[in-house]
Amino acid sequence: MNIAHHVERGHRLFPDKIALIFEDKTFTYKQLDELAGRVANGLRGLGIKRGDRVALFLPNIPEFVIGYLGILKIGAIAVSINVMLKTAEVSYILNDCAAKAIITTESQSQQVSEADLPELEHILIAEGQAHKGITLAQLMANASPEAPAVEMDRHAPACILYTSGTTGFPKGATLAHGNVIANSYAANRCYRISSSDRLLLYLPLFHCFGQNAILNTGFSACATIVLQRRFDLEKVLQTITEKQITMFFGVPTVFIKILNTEIPEKTFNNVRYFFSAAAPMPIEIAQKWHDKYGIFIHEGYGLTETSPFATYNNDLQYKLGSIGTPIDNVEIQIVDNYGHQVQLGELGEILVRGPNVMLGYWNRPFETAEVIQNGWFHTGDIGRMDEEGYFYIVDRIKDMINLSGFKVYPSEVENVIYQHPAVAEVAVYGVPDPIKGEVVNTNIVLKPGHNITAQQIIDFCYQNMAAYKVPHVIHFVDALPKNPTGKVLRRLLRHNSIQDVHQ
Ligand code: ATP
Repeated sequence: MNIAHHVERGHRLFPDKIALIFEDKTFTYKQLDELAGRVANGLRGLGIKRGDRVALFLPNIPEFVIGYLGILKIGAIAVSINVMLKTAEVSYILNDCAAKAIITTESQSQQVSEADLPELEHILIAEGQAHKGITLAQLMANASPEAPAVEMDRHAPACILYTSGTTGFPKGATLAHGNVIANSYAANRCYRISSSDRLLLYLPLFHCFGQNAILNTGFSACATIVLQRRFDLEKVLQTITEKQITMFFGVPTVFIKILNTEIPEKTFNNVRYFFSAAAPMPIEIAQKWHDKYGIFIHEGYGLTETSPFATYNNDLQYKLGSIGTPIDNVEIQIVDNYGHQVQLGELGEILVRGPNVMLGYWNRPFETAEVIQNGWFHTGDIGRMDEEGYFYIVDRIKDMINLSGFKVYPSEVENVIYQHPAVAEVAVYGVPDPIKGEVVNTNIVLKPGHNITAQQIIDFCYQNMAAYKVPHVIHFVDALPKNPTGKVLRRLLRHNSIQDVHQ
């Protein structure tokens, strides 16, 4: 097996079908496969072998997809690097996985400091001039397009995705060919995707959501991927109409932004499917979306370490507010602090077992053993299961606020505040307190044209939640800090507010 087989199958079955659209460029399955073949042969010519690490430090451009497939075809390992990282962070990752080559752009190559990288032998520039190394086009120019993907064992590492670090130091989650293939077929069935679907992909390709839950899943169905360089609401909305997008994927903040913006009425006329993952979807938002567009936002839950899909809020019985039921061949358990399964409905840590669970963290056996025990991956998320086997995620264990022994889950408080008509976005987080241990802080972005006082929010909270959960401090802000997938960085808010106190 090999992840690159998805595109090779597209080449065989539908050679002229469009696999990828980027701005005014289109690539058929045949063209995409052949371009990937050229990269594969070019990399071989440089001496890159099966198991070698090749990094992709690229924005969402076709060369990311072509490079990625080329790396996989020869059995090398594709390492994705967040494009926002700076020199020291990039060096850390390249050294951590001992990458032999990197594919990047002229502008981003400034963050690649060869002096710090003894193992790095080749820099390939996919966009712009090659002041360092050679261009990817030069590498491909004389290479043959023929490069059938080599057969890989299902447990052979295929890619390394560094966790974005909202919980600490980046670790290289290593996914096998079998992990990604199992997950893309499972997602394929969840979405009921067909070869005539068009998937919009503006979420970063270096992240598991974009790379596997959209790109590889789209390719597994021989569908068309419409790639965008980054999230730009105006362009996104325009592309949905112009390119007749049928499947729209986002994180909750994107859906919130769209709901809070005046958009042309017919924008979503062709869209048959909406999907959200990566962060809790406030029930209020999911309901409003359904009221407005008549279609539910399907929700998936998972982590980079689970390829990423683990559960899906399915069509058989869609339950608002739930992350659904485990996907094909995946098991979920909820356990207490001692690792014992909790009673039905009780809260505990979510554990995941199945073909989607990563091989481990690259070169980190101790960290791997901490999170994978007897095949069960410890997610660090708190959740519960209902009597029909549907799961609900409450929060991350690390985000839970402990207030004089009372547990406050930020998402629960956020869900209530979202019901206030003046609120556009909200983030709740704990801040250390000498008496109570921690107290509840809240940052709020108001909808344009709305004016409201902190006291009004607090009064609203008192009416809708237990008194101990009511925020102590409310900051009105212009924006919330987010990671590249749009997840609010509660850890940063907490950190900043601790610094404010100490200044
Ligand atoms: P890091 O792992 O370093 O914290 P990250 O948050 O970007 O970085 P991901 O693997 O993208 O890493 O995030 C996984 C987390 O996202 C899950 O553990 C969970 O907390 C959250 N998450 C994913 N899907 C959902 C969902 N549908 N609802 C609520 N939370 C979700």
